[in-house]
Amino acid sequence: MKNIDWKYKKIAIKVGSNVITQEDGSLNVGRMLRIVEDIAVLSKQGLEVILISSGAVAAGRGSVVPAKRTNIVSAKQIWAAIGQVKLMSTYQFLFEKYNIIAGQVLATKEGFSDRRHYLNMKNCISAMIENKVLPVVNENDTVAINELMFTDNDELSGMMASMMDSQALFLLSNVDGIYNGVPGSDGVEIIKEICGDSVNPEQYITSSKSGFGRGGMLTKYTTARKIASEGVDVFIANGNRDSIVLDILRGKEVPFTQLRGCNGRPKSVKKWLYHSDTFAKGAVVVNRGAKDALLADRASSLLMVGITGVEGYFEKGDIIRILDEEGNNIGLGKSAYDSRKAEQSIGVKLPRPFIHYHYLVLNDELRNGFGT
Ligand code: GLU
Repeated sequence: MKNIDWKYKKIAIKVGSNVITQEDGSLNVGRMLRIVEDIAVLSKQGLEVILISSGAVAAGRGSVVPAKRTNIVSAKQIWAAIGQVKLMSTYQFLFEKYNIIAGQVLATKEGFSDRRHYLNMKNCISAMIENKVLPVVNENDTVAINELMFTDNDELSGMMASMMDSQALFLLSNVDGIYNGVPGSDGVEIIKEICGDSVNPEQYITSSKSGFGRGGMLTKYTTARKIASEGVDVFIANGNRDSIVLDILRGKEVPFTQLRGCNGRPKSVKKWLYHSDTFAKGAVVVNRGAKDALLADRASSLLMVGITGVEGYFEKGDIIRILDEEGNNIGLGKSAYDSRKAEQSIGVKLPRPFIHYHYLVLNDELRNGFGT
């Protein structure tokens, strides 16, 4: 195959459980091979690919029937412990056919809450790629419990794509894309492209989901929109179609929905904060003047003199929320002081800002994404 000048150099591909497992939960090795073939072609052509694959829980399900007293969380953890090994060894076996060494990365949502841990993970995956080891990522389902879980692997793949500065993210499930109505009804077709708020497909998407995966189209769309707003091109497509990723990249007429980033890419620290809103440890209340300064067009830091209250217990470097005097959430950022120092310094002028503007995201950005 001749070398093509691909539009993207770094891509992430997420494959859902429903694509690579069969009805009885066993792995659909033929389907996995098709996906591996696509990735092999792209890797050989110099593209950096990260694969995020679900399927661990589904693949383990057939092996053990948990005892009656085993609760559902533990049952899923057991299935994942068995299934992840099957999933990964199958991937390793298939990639080896193409002389590609695949390595496993297991992530937890908590791992994203700490910037050091986040950078460790980023360094590890970068080093794998540099050494031509293909990262195959999944959630560490054996330690995942509801409160600390990724909503689904769509969310995990979005965070991965954002962390690794991927230029495109492919979300492959068993549907062809987002439709502008109920699929199969008169005049209903796939929405080809969504840029910013130009189309509002939420009205058409039901929150129902099918089969083994945790996610559904609604969470897929929410993730896709958030990641697109960071400047990543997101493609929602059907992983049951052979060569779907290659076909999209080659510009073939195949069904998919593309969400396009309409704006520039935010700084990396802001991207990390943007995905961290569930990890806030405490909060500070700011006065009117500080609120106005933060919301003004010009970027400004939050100074200690603008703070009138401190809530919760947090360490220096933790993520905290910023509230106005009415209790409204204005944004969040990384604190330069711990909560004790902050309490002692209310209204005092300190040499360093409480939150530097490089480490601060405002609610508009959190809610609407960067520039959409
Ligand atoms: N991590 C889960 C698994 O491998 C899948 C989560 C999801 O369905 O998105 O089974």
